Amino acid sequence: MADTIFGRIIRREIPARIEHEDDLCLAFHDVAPQAPVHVLVIPKRPIASLADVGDDDAMVLGHLVVVAAQLARTLGLTGGYRLVVNCGPDGGQSVDHLHVHLLGGRSLSWPPG
Ligand code: 5GP
Repeated sequence: MADTIFGRIIRREIPARIEHEDDLCLAFHDVAPQAPVHVLVIPKRPIASLADVGDDDAMVLGHLVVVAAQLARTLGLTGGYRLVVNCGPDGGQSVDHLHVHLLGGRSLSWPPG
């Protein structure tokens, strides 16, 4: 998969407000937040999108969701929150390195645009 801006964040080539890091993932605040809390949780092993995942990725994908839920607790999102994974052009994906958006801190409308 081609390198992306998120690969550069993982390698600390560009700065980000990092909330969490472990062997499998990195979580950092979105540069253009769409809610009071907007954190991206990304696998360190690059996966372009959900369109590319297979059985081997089940553990890391589960880990991203568990980390996002833990961050929601530590960031005080007691009123609820939303996890979003955009996939491909129709899904609104703009960075081709799979990421989970953690959005919270305000009431979120449904359906999404
Ligand atoms: P997507 O549209 O692919 O689902 O989400 C990509 C997200 O990455 C967007 O919300 C965008 O604001 C965020 N983003 C793009 N470039 C950067 C960056 O350089 N730093 C950070 N922290 N977020 C970025």
